[in-house]
Amino acid sequence: MARKLFYENAYDATCTAKVVAVDGNAVILDQTVFYGESGGQPGDTGTLNGVKVISTKAREDGEVLHLVEDPSKFAVGSEVSGSLDWERRLRLMRTHTSLHLVAQVAETIAGKCQCTGSGMKDSGEGHVDLMAAEKRIAGELVPLLEAKCNEVIRKGAEVKAFFDEQRKDYRFIQIDSLPPIPCGGTHVRNVSEIGAIKLKRENVGKGKDRVIVTLSS
Ligand SMILES: [Zn+2]
Repeated sequence: MARKLFYENAYDATCTAKVVAVDGNAVILDQTVFYGESGGQPGDTGTLNGVKVISTKAREDGEVLHLVEDPSKFAVGSEVSGSLDWERRLRLMRTHTSLHLVAQVAETIAGKCQCTGSGMKDSGEGHVDLMAAEKRIAGELVPLLEAKCNEVIRKGAEVKAFFDEQRKDYRFIQIDSLPPIPCGGTHVRNVSEIGAIKLKRENVGKGKDRVIVTLSS
């Protein structure tokens, strides 16, 4: 299994690695900075030895598959240098962190919320589906939620990521002193990096409120 360098430092944009296997157009490395699509976060793009990585997937067992434009350029055992499309990855980290923030701040104004789904695009837009126990997130609550989130972003708050001490494959992130959230994605170190966000609500039925989050830059 590749060593996941993005869990050691999500800000590493480059790495060197050894090719472990080539399967179709998927290259498997002994270590990587490329995040494989999973948990609603799109996989990374970039290059391996200058060859385009079209996308990165997480195999069911967690192995990272780099889907390259020309797999004939890779031989098992050879060294490669990888480079992320960093601008895109950073935007995904900012979007991803913003979705956690929105879900947690929503609880402070609408009571206990269940997050039933989320997703994001590399354009700086994402959504989180919430089922609030006490109040629907609608009407005036949306601008209130937006204002409260932007206040936290302006002030700044640390985002920590850690693995469970007992179950090493359980990973959490924690914003400031809010309750930890199970998540295997990549996030920014401080919510201030998200920048101002805009919120919009979409009614998706079944008691769910979809909050669409757009980064301002
Ligand atoms: Zn996350």
